[in-house]
This record gives sequence, structure tokens and C-alpha cells, in this order.
Amino acid sequence: MEKTVHIAVVPGPGFSHLVPILQFSKRLVQLHPNFHVTCLIPTLGSPPSASKSILETLPPNINSIFLQPIKAEDLPQGVAIETQIQFTVTLSLPSIHQALNTLTSKNPFVALVADSFAFEALDFAKEFNLLSYIYFPSSATTLSWYFYVLILDKETSCEYRDLPEPVKIPGCVPIHGRDLNNQSQDRSSQVYKLFIQRVQRFCFVDGIFINSFFEMETSPVRALKEEGRGYPHVYPVGPIVQTGDDAKGLELECLTWLDKQQVGSVLYVSFGSGGTLSQEQITELAYGLELSNHKFLWVVRAPSSLAFDAYLSAQKDVDPLHFLPCGFLEKTKEQGMVIPSWAPQIQVLGHSSVGGFLTHCGWNSILESVLHGVPLITWPLFAEQRMNAVVLREGLKVGVRPKVGENGLVERVEIAEVIKCLMEGEEGGKMHKRMEELKEAATNALKEDGSSTKTLSELVRKWESLV
Ligand code: UDP
Repeated sequence: MEKTVHIAVVPGPGFSHLVPILQFSKRLVQLHPNFHVTCLIPTLGSPPSASKSILETLPPNINSIFLQPIKAEDLPQGVAIETQIQFTVTLSLPSIHQALNTLTSKNPFVALVADSFAFEALDFAKEFNLLSYIYFPSSATTLSWYFYVLILDKETSCEYRDLPEPVKIPGCVPIHGRDLNNQSQDRSSQVYKLFIQRVQRFCFVDGIFINSFFEMETSPVRALKEEGRGYPHVYPVGPIVQTGDDAKGLELECLTWLDKQQVGSVLYVSFGSGGTLSQEQITELAYGLELSNHKFLWVVRAPSSLAFDAYLSAQKDVDPLHFLPCGFLEKTKEQGMVIPSWAPQIQVLGHSSVGGFLTHCGWNSILESVLHGVPLITWPLFAEQRMNAVVLREGLKVGVRPKVGENGLVERVEIAEVIKCLMEGEEGGKMHKRMEELKEAATNALKEDGSSTKTLSELVRKWESLV
């Protein structure tokens, strides 16, 4: 009988840092049933219900343990979302240590895999004789920037957004400084310092998994693997996304509505698990959708001046539909459907009526769209989403990005124009075609002899040899 190989994984707090590492774990045990994964989950307050329901779908060879929740009042107040995430993990370290101590005393574990925000957990790897890996739930381009920032930090003194030329990250499309991740926008900030410290630690792990695939980011992956750069081994194992099993079989109103629409006619509009818009921007978006005359399915959240307001915790109990312009729902009842806060995104993107996705460019949403061949309108809000938008538009050419006006808003006319460009224009047709090609490449990467499957198996053999 094959020996059981035990590994532990530590996600970051927040739905979109939990789901990717769980999906990775599911794929690992599905391909290699002799593996057993224990997931140690740091949380801020009580975990969101979406996270709990995902945990209910885990197979028997994945265990999950919620660590002692961290209280919001114990975190520094008024800090950036990235800092909140990282501090939640820092405060959870004693619980992680205790859990590892208990686990490794019962079974021999070979590896510890941590989300990129939970990297501090990897400090325990040596003590428990484990190999250490980061699960980076984002692109090869973003990871390349993480390493490149260590060089640029030494070579330049100005803010990156003031650099006259776009930044040339090895192997990647040039990206203007203002489009780099939020953490790089103010070099005097605490968030930037923490970012640099975090990336420095990345250099000392045994390997980094990226949720991307060779065929989608060939050049950035090659650059990351180039010998002489001294980076840890990089394993592209994606695209790994939610299966949507938790919503399967549900008679959801929005899916019934989609059933009644023409193939490829609907624009799906969503800003991820917690992205929010200002009241003014919600109004412009509503009018822009109406003006476009295209069918839409819009996931609406209550407004906030902070783009990530609903990210780590559920929004307060308000009906987001109250924030739509007066009469909008009545006027557009034949044209579109509005759903408060949350949609079964996988089912929506997989529905034949959906022909475009207006997205905040979270990496999971992008991969989900790629796997379903749906081209994009890119509307980045925070984190590394502007970088993703550049990759989609300049690199892969599967997205169109609306211009932000001088008042900081994307105005209704511009919104209507990009929707028309994607849903009916010649350029939209080309983006569709390229997205179909990318979908095929993504599907192939996950087949038995596909690039991502082979990459994972290579590592699995190494782990097995250690048992
Ligand atoms: N999601 C969903 N329904 C929604 C909004 C989001 O199922 O209404 C899921 C989506 O399918 C994706 C994740 O939440 O798996 C969002 O991750 P992403 O990386 O796109 O964005 P983030 O939430 O990190 O900003």
C-alpha cells in the first residue's frame, strides 16, 4: 500500500486567499489520493458564510482547522487591507505553532505550504523538519514584479508612479508605475516597507506555486525560471479555480433569468468578493449599462469610499439596491438583472448567455473567465488588479479598459462605449476569439499530460521520496 504523505497548508484570511489554497489542495489529493492535507485557517472575527460553505465541500483527505479568531480591535486601526491581512496572520502565529506541534507529533509531515500573506508561518518549517512553499494565488507577472521590486528599490529613489517610462519587469509587458500594486504606490509608507520585507522572505523558501499556466504567461514564467537569477523554484500549477459545486442544483433566479437570454448576449458585472464603488460611480455605472442597450447581470454592493470595504468581513445589513438611481430597476427590468452582494460566479460565467465580464480584475475572476472563454472589460480597484488589467489588455489582448475621467470617475458614456466595443464591435470579436484560444490552452494545461499537471506531479514525486 502507498504510504500517506501529509502536508499542512496555511491560507491567508479572506475568502479569496482561502479558496485558492483549498482548490490547490483538492487538486493535489484528487490527482494523488495518497496525500492528506491539513488546512490551518487564520481568521479575523467570525469567518464569512461563503468560507464555511466551501469547507463543507472538502473531500475526507483534507481536514480544516479554524485557528483562534483574531479580534478586529487587536489590529492596528486605519491600516491598509494588506496590512490587516498580514497582521491577522502574525497574531495567529502562536496558534499555528501549536497546531503544527500537535499534528507533527502524530504523523510525519513533509511540507508546509503557506499563502503569500501567511509566509511567516514558514518560519516554523525548520523546527518541524518541513519543506517550505508559498502558494501565490496570482500571476507570474505579479510574482516577477515582487522579485524585481527588490532591485528597483535599490536603483531608484523616486516614487515608481513618477518614473517617466513604464517599468520593464523581466519577461513581462511593460507596466507603468501607477499601475503597479497598491503596496508599491507610496514608498514611505508602512505598507511598502512590509511589502519589501515580505518579498525578501520569499527568496528563502523551497519553492513557490503560482496559480497560472505556462501557455498563458510563457515569457514571465521563463524569466522566473531562468538560472542565475537565484529565485526559488517556481511551479505554475494553474488555473486552479472554484468548481462551483456548492451552488450546483440550486434553482437560482439569476440562472433562470440567464436561461431566457440569447447566447453570448449578457454582460456579467461583478467586483469580486469584496470590491465596492463610490455612490457617484454606482450611479454612472447604472446609467452606462442602461445607455449601452446591452443585457446585463450586475452584482451590486452598497457604496463605500474604500474600494475593498467588503473584503474581509461581510457588509453591514443594508440593501444595496437602495443605492441605485431612482427608477433604474423599473426602467431596465427587460434589459438586465441586479443581484445584491453575491452571485454564483462560476455558474454565471459558464452559462452560454454570458458574452462578456466587467471585472475588477481579481486574479481568480480572471482565471474563471479564461476557463469559460469570456472576454473582459477591465475595471481594476485595488491590490495588483491594475497590473492584471495591463496583462489582459496589452499582453493577452482579451480585455478593454475604460478611461477614468478627470473627476476620478468612469463616466456613463465611456462605460456604454466599452460595453459596445466588447459586445458588438470588431475588436470585441477578436478578443472573443483570443479568449477561446486561451480557454483551450487552459483546459489542456490541466489534462493528464498538460503542463500544470506535470509540474505538480514532479514535485509530488519529490515529496513522496521523503516519506
Ligand atoms: N465570487 C463569487 N460571487 C460573487 C463575487 C465573487 O463567487 O458575487 C468569487 C469569484 O468566483 C472568485 C472570488 O469570489 O472565485 C473572487 O476572487 P478574485 O481574486 O477575483 O477577487 P477578490 O475577491 O480577491 O478581490
